[in-house]
Amino acid sequence: MELFNVYPLMDVEPVSAKGSWITDKTGLKYLDLYGGHAVISVGHSHPDYIAKISKQLSRIGFYSNSIQNPSQVELADKLGKMSGLPDYQLFLCNSGAESNEAALKLASYHTGKEGVIAFSDGFHGRTAGVSAVTASTAIKIPSKKPDNVHFAEFNNIEQVKEFFLKEEVGAVILECIQGIGGVNLVTKEFYKELLDLCKKYNALLIADEVQSGFGRTGKFFSFQHLSSEYQPDLISMAKGMGNGFPVGGVLISPEIKPVYGLLGSTFGGNYIACNAVLAVLDIIENESLLENSGAIGDYLLNKVSGLPELKEVRGKGLMIGLEFHNPVADIRKELVRKYQILTGSSSNPNVLRILPSLTVSIEEVDLLLSALQRILKERESNEAVHIS
Ligand code: PMP
Repeated sequence: MELFNVYPLMDVEPVSAKGSWITDKTGLKYLDLYGGHAVISVGHSHPDYIAKISKQLSRIGFYSNSIQNPSQVELADKLGKMSGLPDYQLFLCNSGAESNEAALKLASYHTGKEGVIAFSDGFHGRTAGVSAVTASTAIKIPSKKPDNVHFAEFNNIEQVKEFFLKEEVGAVILECIQGIGGVNLVTKEFYKELLDLCKKYNALLIADEVQSGFGRTGKFFSFQHLSSEYQPDLISMAKGMGNGFPVGGVLISPEIKPVYGLLGSTFGGNYIACNAVLAVLDIIENESLLENSGAIGDYLLNKVSGLPELKEVRGKGLMIGLEFHNPVADIRKELVRKYQILTGSSSNPNVLRILPSLTVSIEEVDLLLSALQRILKERESNEAVHIS
C-alpha cells in the first residue's frame, strides 16, 4: 500500500534526538530550530518527560472518559495556575484542528449565532470546519463554501466593525501572533478594540494559541503580551503542550456552562496525554523556560537585525520570523545541506521561521547566526560577480 501523498518531504531521516539535536540514520547531527512545526517545547527526549510517560504507561495506558481520571484533574489545576487562568475550564482533545473545532462549536452554542470572523493569513487547521475559517495555505472543500465565515484583513478593525454591523457574528477566531501566515503580530489597540466589539455584539473571541501557547513567546500565552485585563473567551492549544505526544485542549471561560454530550473525544485526556502535558509543565517551571524563551528570543531578535538582505524581523520569544527581500527556499536548503540546521518556511515565501525548543541555548542560536551570515555574504559576493 502507498502512503496518501500529501506532504512534500525533506531528505532527512531522523533516528534519535536529544535536546535541540536530531541524529539521522547516517549518524549526521542536525540542529533543530524548528521543532517539527513548533511542537518540541521542552527539548527532544527530556529524561523527566520520558520517565513520567513511561511510569504511567507501565501502570495503566488507557481508559475512556467514563471513569474517574485524577491525571486530568491534576492537569487542569496545574494548567490553571501556570497560565494565570484558574477560573477557566479545560476540555481535552487530540490536535490543534480539533481544539479549534470544539471552540467554534462552543461559541455558536453559547451565542446561538453561526457567523464567524476570521483573518487574512490566519491558519486554524485542515479539518472541514476549521479549514473554512483558514485563509492561508489550507485547501478548502469546494462543495462547502460557507456563507457564515467573513474574512477581515489582519489588524484592520474597520473591516471587523463592518462585519459586526452587517452580519450575525457569534465568534471571532484570531492568532495573536500568526504562525504559518509568516509571524505577524496583532497590535495592542486592535486586540482591545476587537474584544470591546465582541462584548458589544455578544460574540466570543477564540484565541488560537495552538502554535504560540505554552511559553513559546516568553509568556504562557501570546495574548498575555497584549493586555493583562482583556482575556479571550476560548483559548485553543496543542503543539508544544505535549512536546510531541498528540494532545490538544481548549480553555473555556467560566461564563460558558458545560452540558453532557456537548463535546467529547474517545482519546482526549487519556492518561498518557495528561502525563505528557504534566511533564511539560513541570519542566517549563523547573527550568524557567518562559524566561529562557524570552531571553534567547530577545538575543536572537537583536543579533539578526544586522544581517544582509533582511527586510524585517518579527516575533516574540522563540516564535521568530525573518523576512527577506527574496524567497528563502534556497537559504533553508543551504542551512540543512551545508550546516545541518533545520528551520521553517511559511505561507509568505520570503519568511524564514525559527521555532526552536524553549530549552535552546545562546551557543546553539549562535550557530544559526554564523551560518546565516556566511550564506548571505556568499550570496552577496556571487551577485557582485554577476553584476561586474
Ligand atoms: N492553529 C494553528 C495556529 C496552527 O499553527 C496549526 C498547525 N500548524 C493548527 C491550528 C492545526 O493544528 P493540528 O495540525 O494539530 O491540527
